[in-house]
This record gives sequence, C-alpha cells and structure tokens, in this order.
Amino acid sequence: MKILFPKFDKIGMPLLGVAASVLFVLEAKRQLRRRTRPKTKRLIQNASVAVTALPALRLLLVPGMYAAARWANRHQFGLMPWLKLPTAVRYGLGFLLLDYGNYFWHMLMHRSGLLWRFHNVHHSDMDLDLSSAWRFHVGENFASVPYRGGVIALLGVPAPLVLFYEVIFEGCTAFHHSNLRLPYAVEKQLCKVMVTPRMHGIHHSIVRQETNSNYSVIFSWWDRLHQTLRLNVPQDEITIGVPAYRNPSEQKPAHLFRMPFEKPRAWVLPDGTVPEREERPSPTILLP
Ligand SMILES: [Zn+2]
Repeated sequence: MKILFPKFDKIGMPLLGVAASVLFVLEAKRQLRRRTRPKTKRLIQNASVAVTALPALRLLLVPGMYAAARWANRHQFGLMPWLKLPTAVRYGLGFLLLDYGNYFWHMLMHRSGLLWRFHNVHHSDMDLDLSSAWRFHVGENFASVPYRGGVIALLGVPAPLVLFYEVIFEGCTAFHHSNLRLPYAVEKQLCKVMVTPRMHGIHHSIVRQETNSNYSVIFSWWDRLHQTLRLNVPQDEITIGVPAYRNPSEQKPAHLFRMPFEKPRAWVLPDGTVPEREERPSPTILLP
C-alpha cells in the first residue's frame, strides 16, 4: 500500500497548518460562544486524543482510501468508469459525491449505537473550538476506513481527487468547529453553501434533536436536501456537549479513550432531566 504522498505532505499539510494557525488566532480574538472550561486544559486534553487519531488518519485512513481509488481506477470499477464520464466531470462530480457519502457516514455514526460510542468522544467536548476538530477517538478513524474506502471504490473517483478532497475536508472541519464569530450577515449567506461555525455549533448542542441535525461536512446542501438542516437556534442558547457526560473530571485523556467501551448512558443530564428546547419556526434560516 502506498504510504507516501509528496504533494499531500508538502503542500496540503502545510496549507492546513497555516489555515489552522490563522483560525486559532482569529477564534481567540472573535469568540462566538462563551467558553465553559479552561482553554489550556482543554487544549491539552483534546491534543492527547488527537495524538493517536491523527497518525491513524495519515497512516491508515488516507493510504486506505487512496488504495481503494487506485484499485477501482486500475480495474475500471465504479460509477464513473461505467458511465464513461470525462476526466473533468469525474473530478467535479466525484468531489460532490465524496462529500455526499460523508454526510451519510456522519448520520450513521449518530444512528448506530456501536458507532455512536466512538463518535460520542468527539461530541462530549464541553466547548467547541479548533481543537475539537481533531478530538476523534482512534476507533472512529479505524471504522471509517472500510466505509470511506468502499464509497470511493463504488464511485471509482480518480485517486488524486481522494487526496485533494481530504485536504479540503480537513480544512472545512477545522473551520466549522472553530469558535470564530463571523459577521452574522456573511455567515447567513455562507451557510447556504457550506457548513459554518454557527451551523455546526447547533450539531454539538446537548439538545438531542439539535445534535441529530446538520450532518454535512463541506457543503450544507445535503442537510437541506434531506431536511436535517437546523439553523434556527441562537448560539447564546446552546450548551455544547452530551448531557450525561458533563463531569469535567471525565474529560481526562485516559477516560476519553475508555469511553466507547463503557456502558452507554441515557441522553439525560446528571439531575435526570432531558434537555429540551421549544421548536422555533423556519429551521432553514440562520439565527445569530
Ligand atoms: Zn456528529
């Protein structure tokens, strides 16, 4: 299996590093939601989770997805070769369909009890910022290899597109997890095309029906298409996290690593109440 991807590592990764550094500075200057936990402590905890997830992403997920594409390309397997689409269309349509596939993967992680155990580690973060974008349990990365590789093979997308898509995917993940307050008027328009920090903040709410909405990663269209879009929750009303995981002492890296293997907890707060919010009208119009 090919492991080294010079353009990905020498161009893609440094670009992501620059984007992340800019977001890190900006989100501190223009804060969207008020922090509930000490920033440095959370950064160290989230970095400890990322330290196992990121090597798995780079050394297993990326090579696995690339290998799936190479195999499909070599055997003329998948939707794109079968339809005999021109190269430019394979890149353009392929990019869109890869993103559509990830919408379903994200939804599946919320709907499958087994996958949620791992995705819960990401959602149990009690604040949302740039560091949340890499707080994924390594098991979630392992689980995504057969799914994402399978989608890539079924589509038969060009292998270089897989690497290009991954760089944009990671950049957009960093952007929409950030705690950056964009001008409301700008974000209101931007979220018609792509997932934005306010939109994704709603996905991290402790209100269950809000968490189970806004699954898109790059383009917000997929949520609009499947009516899972929810934009009508003001950010200052959102409590970030998962209700049964609100004890800061459980945010230690060792516990976060064990979390998927513990008995799942019901969607209730420590006092036994279920977080709820009255539905507002017009779910497709972003509130500040
Ligand atoms: Zn999620």
